[in-house]
Amino acid sequence: MILPPATLGMLGGGQLGRFFVLAAHELGYKVWVLDPDPNSPAGKAADRHLCAEYDDFAALDQFAAGCAAVTTEFENVPAGTLEYLAKFIPVRPNADAVGICQNRVAEKSFLRANGIPHAAFAAINSVADLEAAGTELFPGILKVARFGYDGKGQARVTSREEAIAAFQAFKNEPCVLEQMLKLDYEVSVVLARDEQGHTKCFPVAENQHSGGILDVSIAPARSSACQRDSAQEIAEHIAAKLGYIGTLGVEFFVSHGELYVNEMAPRPHNSGHYTVDACVTSQYEQQVRALCGLPLGDARAHSAAVMVNLLGDIWYDASQPGPDAHGAYREPDWSKLYAVSNLKLHLYGKHHARPGRKMGHFTVLDADPAKALAVALAARAAIG
Ligand code: ADP
Ligand code: MG
Repeated sequence: MILPPATLGMLGGGQLGRFFVLAAHELGYKVWVLDPDPNSPAGKAADRHLCAEYDDFAALDQFAAGCAAVTTEFENVPAGTLEYLAKFIPVRPNADAVGICQNRVAEKSFLRANGIPHAAFAAINSVADLEAAGTELFPGILKVARFGYDGKGQARVTSREEAIAAFQAFKNEPCVLEQMLKLDYEVSVVLARDEQGHTKCFPVAENQHSGGILDVSIAPARSSACQRDSAQEIAEHIAAKLGYIGTLGVEFFVSHGELYVNEMAPRPHNSGHYTVDACVTSQYEQQVRALCGLPLGDARAHSAAVMVNLLGDIWYDASQPGPDAHGAYREPDWSKLYAVSNLKLHLYGKHHARPGRKMGHFTVLDADPAKALAVALAARAAIG
């Protein structure tokens, strides 16, 4: 067990890392953050911010010398960085698990090899692969294998010709072509798994996206109890097969009433923000606990919750002239949110608001998820 006041290492300085820092501080730990951005939200909250690239080995040596164990908030940390750090200190989750989650070809091949339900797909490395792709993959979605997020690096294609054009627009980068499913809705399971293989799943959340970015999460999801149980079982199976230690997010599609795994995130997940306000232990505290070899906390929710992401768009008033097409910049009227007594606001302290950038979120708590949703949507309308 790693006990306070040990120093923990966090690779990545975004909001997920920031919540980890806050959770670790509450338990008595110190945190060093490694991130190349001098204004990273987690770096600002950390005890020390090593402002360096992920493959800066001199910085990694310093990091390994100063930290008792290291984790990540960002799936695109190079696998080589994790392998290098693992020579000196525990790295959780392991490099292989992160490597699978950061490459859509490896991820979907892992699902197929383990008999886990997923949308039909083909790995695409050349135009010839697209010419050979089965007709069941059209209409489909072409996704770059690496570095896609928030719907970026994706093209919806109805025909082979469109897929070839999209592949060329992605500069012939390795991709997957995935069958387009008719979605009833989307859900996710966030869980934590410890060294001994014990897992704790948080309640299943239902996720609504807008423009490819998570917009609203509702927990518990509307699925039947039986389907929520199956989603949790599938997520636990994935974590076990990955030999995973830490907090893991698993996204699912529900199509014609059936579950399909969409993708995995080897870190806390945006749809698990609600656990900070609604659960006995948050997804970030579980990450600290799993990293340090502490027993996992209770993942039970004491309330239903609705989380709303606050994107940079609401800092702009498109009806007023500004320096560019986004309109005039102004601080949203937060008093509208403070007026709602069952709403918890979280702002990440990011330096610049940009359209599409995740700047903060809020969570509304109510015994009844439908009431929480109504309050959340009204609160958003009041500031938007
Ligand atoms: P990201 O890394 O951007 O989250 P995803 O693969 O999760 O990428 O895709 C983003 C969103 O696009 C999904 O949450 C879903 O709404 C939609 N989508 C992705 N793949 C499919 C698919 N095969 N069928 C239907 N909708 C999809
Ligand atoms: Mg996704």
